[in-house]
Amino acid sequence: MRGGTHPVFLSKFCGVVTMLSKLRGLALKKTGVEERIFKHTVILRVNLFLMILYFIIFTVLSALFHATQGAIFGGSGLFLMSLLLYATYRGWSNVAAEVYCILLSAVSMCVSILYGSGASPMIILLIQIMVLFTVNLLNLRNRLAFTAMLVAYYLFLFNFMEMSTPVYALDDLELNLFRLLHIYTGAFITFGIMGVTTVDSQLWEKDLIERNASLRTLAAYDSLTGISNRTAIMEMLNKATELYRKARMDALTVAIADIDFFKKVNDTYGHICGDIVLKEVAFLMRDFMEDKGKVGRWGGEEFLFIFYNMNGEQAERELYDLQSKLRNLVVNYESYSFSVTLTFGVAEYSSVRDVIDTIGEADRKLYMGKQSGRNVIVF
Ligand code: GH3
Ligand code: MG
Ligand code: MG
Repeated sequence: MRGGTHPVFLSKFCGVVTMLSKLRGLALKKTGVEERIFKHTVILRVNLFLMILYFIIFTVLSALFHATQGAIFGGSGLFLMSLLLYATYRGWSNVAAEVYCILLSAVSMCVSILYGSGASPMIILLIQIMVLFTVNLLNLRNRLAFTAMLVAYYLFLFNFMEMSTPVYALDDLELNLFRLLHIYTGAFITFGIMGVTTVDSQLWEKDLIERNASLRTLAAYDSLTGISNRTAIMEMLNKATELYRKARMDALTVAIADIDFFKKVNDTYGHICGDIVLKEVAFLMRDFMEDKGKVGRWGGEEFLFIFYNMNGEQAERELYDLQSKLRNLVVNYESYSFSVTLTFGVAEYSSVRDVIDTIGEADRKLYMGKQSGRNVIVF
C-alpha cells in the first residue's frame, strides 16, 4: 500500500495549502471603508483568527475537564472574537482593535480565576503588548503608559492568584495542556505578526501605490460633475502650451463658458436641480470634447475648454455646434422640464502671450457676451 500513501498525503498537503491560501485571502480582504492602515487591519485579523482557534481549544479542554464555567467562558470568548473579526470586514477595524486589546485583560483575568496562574495566563499580557505596538493603537507615549499599567495589573493579578485558590483545581497534566495552549497561541501570534510585518512588504507597497492613485484621481476631478477640476484643466493647458511652443501643435485655442442666469435655476427649481443641470451640461461637454481637446470645471457654473490644433475660427465653429447641442438638452426634474443657454468667450493662444493673458482675454470676451444679452459666442 506504499504507493497509495503518497497521493493521500499529497492531496492532504494540497488541501492544507488551499485552506491556508483561502485564509490569506480572507485576512487580506478589503472592506472599501479602510479607516486605518490596511496592514494593521490584517495584523488584527491574524490575531483574531488565532484567538478563535484558541477559544475553540479552550472550550473543548474545559468541557473535557468538566469545568462548566470554563467552557461557558470559552464559548463566550469564541463568540466575541468572531464578532470582532466580522467587524473588521464591515469597516469597523478601529473599534475592533480597541475592544480586542481591552478584552485581552478580561481574558487573562478569567483564565487566572478559573484555573490559576499555573495555566500561564501571563502570556496574554505579551500578546496584549504586541497588539498595542503593532495594531496602531494610541500614540507612543500613551502606549508606554498603557504598557506600564498592564504590567502593574498583571503583577496584581499574579499575586492575587497566588493568595487565592482557582475555581477549578486542575491536575498537573490538565494544567500543562492549558499552559501549552497559551504558549502556542502566543508563539503563533508572534509569528503571525512577524510574517505580516516583514514578509509581504511588496504587498503593502502595492496598497500605498493604489491609495496614491486614488488620491491623485480625487485631486484631479471635480466631485460634482466628474470632469477635470480647475487644477487639472490648468495643468493640461500648461502642457498644451508647451507642446505648442515646441511646434508639436499647430494651433491652440481656449474658451470659457458660463451658464446664463444660473442663479435663477437655483432660485426657481432648487439647488439640487442646479446640481443636476451642472452634471448634465458637463457630461455633454465632456463627450463633445472627446476628440477635440479637453474641458474642465473652472468654478461654479463656468467651464474651460482647450481646443488642440485649432485656431480661433475653428474652435468657434465647434462651439456653435456645441451651443446648439446644449440648447437641445432638456433637463427633467420633478414635474419641471427646461433648458439652459450658455455664453462663451474664445481666445487663441500664441507664442507672444502667456496662458494667463489668453484666459484673461477669453474671460473679457465672455463678459462682453453677457453684456450683449447672453447666449452668444464671442471671439
Ligand atoms: P449670468 O447669466 O450673469 O452668469 O447669471 P448667473 O445667475 O448665472 O450668475 P451669478 O454669478 O449671479 O450666479 C451664479 C450662481 O451659480 C450662483 C451660485 O449659487 C450658483 N452655483 C455655483 N456653484 C454651484 C453648484 O455647485 N451647484 C449649484 N446648484 N449652484 C451653484
Ligand atoms: Mg459665473
Ligand atoms: Mg452664469
